[in-house]
Parts: sequence; structure tokens; C-alpha cells
Amino acid sequence: MAKVTLPDGSILEVADGTTVKEISEQIGEGLARAAVAAKVNGQLIDLSTTINGDSAVQIITAKDEQCLKVMRHSCAHVMAEAICSIWPDAKLVYGPTVEDGFYYDIDLDEPIRPSDFERIEEKMREIVAADKPFIRKEMSRADALAKLSGDKYKTDNIKHADSEIISFYLHGDGFEDLCRGPHVPSTGKVGSFKIMSVAGAYWHGDPTQKMLQRVYGTAWPSKKELDDYLKGLEEAKRRDHRVLGRQLDLFSFNKAGPGFAFIHPKGMIIWKTVVDYWRGVHNKYNYEEIQTPIILNEELWHKSGHWDNYKENMYFTEFDNASYAIKPMNCPGGCLIYKSRQHSYREFPMRIAELGLVHRHEASGVMHGLFRVRQFTQDDAHIFCTPEQIESEIVGVIELTFEIYRAFGFKDFHIELSTKPEKHIGSDEIWDIATNALKDALKHKEIEYKINEGDGAFYGPKIDFHIKDCLKRSWQLGTIQLDFSMPERFGLVYTDKDNTEKTPVMIHRAVLGSFERFIGILIEHYGGNLPLWLSPEQVRVLAISEKSNDYAGLVQDKLKDAQLRCSCDCSDEKINAKIAKAHGEKLPFMLVVGPKEAQSSTVNVRIRAVRGNKTVGIDEFLKMAKRKIADKDLDLDF
Ligand SMILES: [Zn+2]
Ligand SMILES: [Zn+2]
Repeated sequence: MAKVTLPDGSILEVADGTTVKEISEQIGEGLARAAVAAKVNGQLIDLSTTINGDSAVQIITAKDEQCLKVMRHSCAHVMAEAICSIWPDAKLVYGPTVEDGFYYDIDLDEPIRPSDFERIEEKMREIVAADKPFIRKEMSRADALAKLSGDKYKTDNIKHADSEIISFYLHGDGFEDLCRGPHVPSTGKVGSFKIMSVAGAYWHGDPTQKMLQRVYGTAWPSKKELDDYLKGLEEAKRRDHRVLGRQLDLFSFNKAGPGFAFIHPKGMIIWKTVVDYWRGVHNKYNYEEIQTPIILNEELWHKSGHWDNYKENMYFTEFDNASYAIKPMNCPGGCLIYKSRQHSYREFPMRIAELGLVHRHEASGVMHGLFRVRQFTQDDAHIFCTPEQIESEIVGVIELTFEIYRAFGFKDFHIELSTKPEKHIGSDEIWDIATNALKDALKHKEIEYKINEGDGAFYGPKIDFHIKDCLKRSWQLGTIQLDFSMPERFGLVYTDKDNTEKTPVMIHRAVLGSFERFIGILIEHYGGNLPLWLSPEQVRVLAISEKSNDYAGLVQDKLKDAQLRCSCDCSDEKINAKIAKAHGEKLPFMLVVGPKEAQSSTVNVRIRAVRGNKTVGIDEFLKMAKRKIADKDLDLDF
């Protein structure tokens, strides 16, 4: 007999040789129906696996994250069978799961085209309908190598396998593939799927090897989840900031500077509005602002440690027989300003902000619009303080960070705390003080957080801020990092109460991270329909005909006097064309004016994304718009 311990701690006695599926049936009919795979002693296995000896068993159902992987990999096998039945020459190479789906690398001379996806899916549906059981077959490494001799891909896979027992999976009595498993019980349980794309990929990523065809698919437990996923992708495509950036004339890229953004006048208005707001909040939280040089002597980067740890991502230049580096971070410059005079504990905490332009050489393959660029402006700040002040400073940074995120309309955010890694500098004592200060600050603010054990920087623990956008995509924006290394490297000191010189604690922090990336996120979060206070053009006055041009100009003057960003369309176009144009530019307000409005000193207001229109007095409109801008109101209706 074997004692089986279940996740709730209860124990079942079963005969040796009982399958996990039978155990799931003993627990309950509902669970047995929902079961997809299981974990035995922490290892993911098939339901058909037998239990021998005392074991911890956890049944995995479609609700589990791990189940998705098992299901998707099983779906990859079904796709592989379908492809092999259509192209008998196809050789299977490697088929892992990836985020949201799976792929299979195929060696086939004939190209697989997107127009082939439909018939592959058709074949897959047949295999799914047949609901053939996944059957595991095991043999020794030597037998497996003998069985697959001549298949260089599968032989290679066996060589990379870490077990002496090699397993194969069959669909019923037909298709067979070398595989570690586990799999769902039968082909009917691979969920709702879709083939997404096909791309070239070298075997082992090695350009000297043959180019294979990588076919990507996705699979979800239900049709609804698949549809939601596909809808989300469509929506993300519709909101792509690179497309909207072009359409709304906000920014561009040019091969003259790969990875360097060109910000256009309208983009610059968004930029300046973000900066103005950012400065205001930092002023309120008692920050001072500095600016440090972009190009600094190479020597400095040896001292800061960047040379040893970050050289590959840095740009260098030479002049006057000396080597210089273009800064990838602002901290060393901040340290030099700190060092330019003496400091006393009385000045602490010193909060020094810098909108610092940094350059980091990213590989060309990872560049992505404004999200991943090689030059960006960091909303950086360094706080110098005593160890006793860490906690209250962290609380202050958290309050400021949340205030800023909320102002931009983000409501869903979470925090992760990363602790001491194996490789670190500084005593355990200072690590404890710093880590506890971070924890206490989070407790003080009653903030739930996730701990990433051992994931801190080698120079100190950190807190990261993540926000979710309207598509539920998570973005890491802000960070707070305690640093025990740099103040020592730069010999920073302050005079303490007892008149002795001490090393200050240095806190690095950023709220938005990179201005470029943040503006990209804003564009996608709002799908280009920016809140009124951030819109490059807030109002446009549209004259119904030439006769109303004078009045339209008068209204525009009033708007300008009230500091609204506005323009006037007095072109020869028909009014409907003018409205369509303003609509395409995603303007928050259009004021349509004709003889009737001129006579009554009113405007006919059309509001973005709101049906109908309303006529109000000019002054009433102005008052309303100014209030909405001041309140950073996301709702345009009034
Ligand atoms: Zn497999
Ligand atoms: Zn820093």
C-alpha cells in the first residue's frame, strides 16, 4: 500500500500501481472530470502515471497555470501530427511552450504559408475530434538512440535530455513523438487553439545551420478565453503607439539614428506637459533639481563600477587624447555635485532630482518604438540621508509615486520587493536595516507586495512599481533602490551630530522610468485619446462657412487668452470634412460655429467619444474646460 498525501494534508491509502487518474476519481467525480495532469512529489506527470510508495499528489485542473502549459504543449503535438500528415517530408525539431502559446520548429523545404494555416487547423480539429489517448512509452537512452538513428534533430534532443529513461508519446496508434511530457489524457483536451504565425529560425539559433520554419500557435481552456485573447491582440494592435505616433504626428524614427526618437511639435507638447506636472509634484515633495553633463571622463566610470558591469551597453568617444563615455546613468554625476562641498546631517534628507538624458546601447533586435530606445530621459532622483531616515524617505517616495500614477489615470498598480542576492556587498547588518526599512515603509502604508527573494541589486535591496494598463498588461515603471556601494566608491561623507564623518545612505529612485517609454504607454493606454490636460490640441473651432470665419477667430482668441491649446479651421472645406479631420486627430473638443452661434455668443460643442452635441455660452465652455484641465479629469462630458 502507498500513502498518498493531498494538498490539504489529508491522506489516502491506495494500492501500489494505482494510477493518478484513479486517485482523482476516488477524491471526487468533478475533480476527475476536470483533471488534466498531476504533480507527484513536485514533478509534473501524466494522469496515467502509477503511484508506487508514499507520495505527495496534487491533481492539476484547467484552472491551474501549469495546466495551460501541459495543454499547450499537447496542442503542439496535435499541430505536429497535422503538419506531418499534410507534408509527409516534414521533420520535427523542437516544440516548447512560450508565453500565451507554443511553437514547433519544422524542417521542411516547402515553405509553410499563412494561407496554409486553415488546412492545418482543419486537420487538427479532426485529430481533436477523434479524442485519441496520449500514450507514454519509455525506453533506455541506448534503445531510443537506436530507434531514432538517422534523425539528427531527435538524436540531438536525446543527447540534451537529462534522464536515462527516454519517453515517447503516441496519439492512439498513430502519430508518435519523442517527448518528456507530461500531456493531457487525450487529444480532445488540448483546448481551443489557433495557429498564429510562421517565421524562419536557425537550428539552435546558429546562423551556420539550416533555416527551419517555426510555426506559432496559441491554445486556451475555452473558446471564450481564446476569443478574448485574440480580441486583446487586435486591440493592442489598434493601440500600437508606433502607428498612433505616426498618425497623430507625435514622433518618428529615422535610420540616421537607430533607436533614437525624434519628438515632433505635438509630441513635445505632451512631453512638456508631463515635465511641468512632474516638476510641480517634486517641488511639493521638497526636491531640488540638478543637471549633469552627458559626456564624462572614462575614469569616472571605472570608479562608479559601470566600466566593470555595464561597459557593453555604453557609448564611448575620444578627444584631446582622452577617453570619455556617454552616461548610461545619472548617479555618478549626482555624486560629483554632492562632493562639490561639505555636508552636515542637518541638511538631510537631501532630495536631488535630475531629468537625465542617458544613452544605453541596446541590441537592434530588441528595439521597439518608444518602449525600447537607445537614448532616453530618466526621471531620476537621488536621496542622501542617514540610516534612521530611510523608512520615512521610502514612505515619501511611495506617496509621491502613487500620486503621479493616479494623476495619469492609472489605478491598478502593485509593488515587488527584492532582497539580498547571494553576490552582494555591505554587511548583513546594513542589509537588514535597509530591507526592514523598505518592509516597514510598505507596512506603514498598508501596501501589499510580492517578495522576490535574492533578486536585489548587488549594492542594495529595491522596490519596483508595476502598473497595469487598460489591456491588463503589466509595466514596470518606478523603482526605489538603496545603495551601499556608490557613496563609498565616491568617498561621499557628511558630518554627523557627534562631529564624526560618516557615509550617507544613497537612495536611487525613478517614478516614470523613461519619459519616452512612459509617453508610449500613455498613448497605448488611452488608444491615442489622451486626457484633456495632456492633449496637444485641446479644442478646435470649426467655422460652418466663410461667413462665420470672423466669429470663429474671435472664439479662438478667447480660448487662447484662457491658455487653452487650440486652433481654428477656417478652410474652404465643407463642415463635415472639417469634423471628420478633427475626429481623426482625436481632439477632445470641437466647437462648431455659424451665424446662429455668432448672434448669441455661443458655441456648439462636440465631445470626443460622446454622442450628440450641445450649445453653450463661450464663457461657460471656458470655465468648464479650465476646471477639467486643472482637475486632470478623464471624463470630457459636461
Ligand atoms: Zn512533446
Ligand atoms: Zn542613481
